[in-house]
Amino acid sequence: MTLKTGDEFEGSLRELKLQVYMFGEKVDNVVDNPILRPSLNSMKATYELAQMPEHADLMTAVSPYTGQRVNRFTHVHQGAEDLVNKVRMQRLLGQWTASCFQRCVGLDAINAVFSTTWELDQAKGTSYHQNFLKYLTYIQENDLVVDGAMTDPKGDRGLPPSKQADPDLYLRVVERRPDGIVVRGAKAHQTGATNSHEMIVMPTINMTEADADWAVAFSIPMDAPGVYMIVGRQSCDTRKLEGSPMDTGNPVFGGMEALIVFDDVFVPNDRIFLNGEYEFAGMLVERFAGYHRQSYGGCKTGVADVLIGATALAADYNGVPRASHIKDKIIEMVHLNETLWACGLAASYEGQPTASGNYLVNLMLANVCKQNVTRFPYEIVRLASDIAGGLMVTAPSEKDFRDPKLGPIVDKYLKGVAAVSTENRLKIFRLIECMSLGTAAVGYQTESMHGAGSPQAQRIMIGRFANLEAKKALAKKIARIAD
Ligand code: SF4
Ligand code: FE
Repeated sequence: MTLKTGDEFEGSLRELKLQVYMFGEKVDNVVDNPILRPSLNSMKATYELAQMPEHADLMTAVSPYTGQRVNRFTHVHQGAEDLVNKVRMQRLLGQWTASCFQRCVGLDAINAVFSTTWELDQAKGTSYHQNFLKYLTYIQENDLVVDGAMTDPKGDRGLPPSKQADPDLYLRVVERRPDGIVVRGAKAHQTGATNSHEMIVMPTINMTEADADWAVAFSIPMDAPGVYMIVGRQSCDTRKLEGSPMDTGNPVFGGMEALIVFDDVFVPNDRIFLNGEYEFAGMLVERFAGYHRQSYGGCKTGVADVLIGATALAADYNGVPRASHIKDKIIEMVHLNETLWACGLAASYEGQPTASGNYLVNLMLANVCKQNVTRFPYEIVRLASDIAGGLMVTAPSEKDFRDPKLGPIVDKYLKGVAAVSTENRLKIFRLIECMSLGTAAVGYQTESMHGAGSPQAQRIMIGRFANLEAKKALAKKIARIAD
């Protein structure tokens, strides 16, 4: 089955033996858990849209490795057009779910590991790329979700892995056997962990010879022995348990993150993609981060399309759509969002082939894209809050609204324009609340800041690619300065 349906995807998750903990308890049925279910629905959308003829071009591609049409989330980019289609697909899914749909990390890991293993093998005579091609074929033929696991807990940020007081604060090899390796450590903030079949684990920073045991990349099933995860809390998450869908703002879709723990996990040789070749850790990190920084020019713009729409509806329902300052603020939101989109597209169109043949985004533009993503969503949320007004955080609950005695009072006094029901007005406020302060704020705000690397990580890359000497030469030429 090369393309799974949404229901087949859901069924395949039920068969996994994931070790998941949340609120201090083991979650036996991850698929139907009301806190986690919205994140599964978002991931499921990556399968459902791939089945829709009108979205097939964006959501699928023909794999040169299997000869079959595969989900684009498992595809190796064959040209700049694939990079462009990737961000178009992400914007579409952002609009569809108004949340993080989680599957991009695996796509970005696949493409980064593809080119890095090829170059590593050329330099060292290893056979990691063959390992990876075998794994890629398995993923594509079974249409699996791959979690891209990069971020180590990192402990003391001023120290490299080998100097940490606790060596497990970066994931590392603790044993080398003839048939494979044993790894120990953890990966933090793992997007989509409970909705993934597999994960590709990568190092998180550049490394030196002393860090060779930490320079490791491999794949592992999510339910491999020794792997367990602790789900991260989200603001307002327990509203999903209250039986009041209106209060959640986005009743169907969501995202999730978890701390994944590797408690002496065995990885067989044919699933290893880097094992001590510390010189290649930086290349893998830089490429994965580059792809994921491009990704944000797609997904975040799609999510913001929903927030901008909700804000414009709030203005309508409040009776102020024609106020000039409201119109101007909405134009500013659109302008900021389309600027992010332009960056995502530019990084894609300027993509170039790697030595292995797959396409890499323009790293300068991808880093500029993500740097803007660390800022603009915050301004977009500020403007949404300005326009929506205080009710987005002070409105009574759905239970009050449904109450026979209180409901009519809430209905009467929280009415906006006469033509719109109070219920619809409250739904829009809750959606804006959810995206600004609630469960979806994880994906739209803090993830915009720190996902795919915190702001300073992009500034370092922008500085590296800035080529100031060339710019100085331009200035000297114009000013007629001869050294
Ligand atoms: Fe995809 Fe965006 Fe979520 Fe990253 S944050 S996994 S790019 S939807
Ligand atoms: Fe992310």
